[in-house]
Amino acid sequence: MNPFSYLRATDIPTAVEGVSRSPTARFIGGGTNLLDLMKEGVTRPSHLVDITRLPLSRIEETAAGGLRIGALVTNSDLAWNAQVEQRYPLLSKAILAGASAQLRNMATTGGNLLQRTRCYYFYDVGTPCNKREPGSGCGAKEGFNRIHAILGASEQCIATHPSDMCVALAALEAVIHVTGKDGERAIPFADFHRLPGDTPHLDTNLRPDELITAVELPREGFAAHSSYLKVRDRASYAFALVSVAAALSVDGGRIKTARLALGGVAHKPWRDMGAEALLTGKPATREHFQTAADALVRDAKGHGHNTFKIELAKRTVVRALEQAAGLEARR
Ligand code: SF4
Repeated sequence: MNPFSYLRATDIPTAVEGVSRSPTARFIGGGTNLLDLMKEGVTRPSHLVDITRLPLSRIEETAAGGLRIGALVTNSDLAWNAQVEQRYPLLSKAILAGASAQLRNMATTGGNLLQRTRCYYFYDVGTPCNKREPGSGCGAKEGFNRIHAILGASEQCIATHPSDMCVALAALEAVIHVTGKDGERAIPFADFHRLPGDTPHLDTNLRPDELITAVELPREGFAAHSSYLKVRDRASYAFALVSVAAALSVDGGRIKTARLALGGVAHKPWRDMGAEALLTGKPATREHFQTAADALVRDAKGHGHNTFKIELAKRTVVRALEQAAGLEARR
């Protein structure tokens, strides 16, 4: 591991100032991804700013009727919070579908948003990877790409975003609150993560000096009609091949609002407003769910080993919607 300097921050301005000292400075919270990256030589920060002492570990009600989740709330505390379980079961289930209990006890809400892809080539510093080393190439395109993207990929990178929590946050239309040298700002969830394009080394639109302080959930939690369905190679402690967060509001058997977010298929949690719109005003039936699923994968492209994901995504969308609508017992 590279040598690095270390600062333990006790307030937000000190943390922001500390990370602004060097372009290779990083915040560290739970460290469940960053330490692996450092040990493997994928990331070599010159300076670490420890944010674990900052007062960002509370879950509070907002004036708008939603919840504000501090960036240092652990994944376990968030998933088992009574308000989250009752009002946002989609989020609770997504978090509990990810990682292991030990990791969830350490991993933070802010860190979960920033975890990096699990592309094998990204972690193997002996192979080309445009995300790790811009301009070096992409080992996955012609390599083993079973876990890679079928939507929104580029010539430069076909990696996927690994988070389960973020898929639920995308469907719930959360807002990310950040603080940097220029002050505070709020970022709609859809604008937080990036597609790879020509800059796959950039995962998010966060500026280098900005600290995530909170995630805000809107009032609507779709508690009556939601489902998080994750398909993976093992029953636990495995990243999604495909996952779907489905959330519906239903009135008299007809869909008023539909939200669909997919994990394991793109460089960011994937939403398709066009596919969602196909469900609006329609009866909550398998036929309409299939129409939306077909639309959602209309531009999907496989790369060989991962082509099976296109059909898998369609089937997972239909089943998640059936679960959300109560047409199928939740498994
Ligand atoms: Fe790197 Fe992206 Fe290619 Fe994986 S898919 S090797 S992360 S450039």
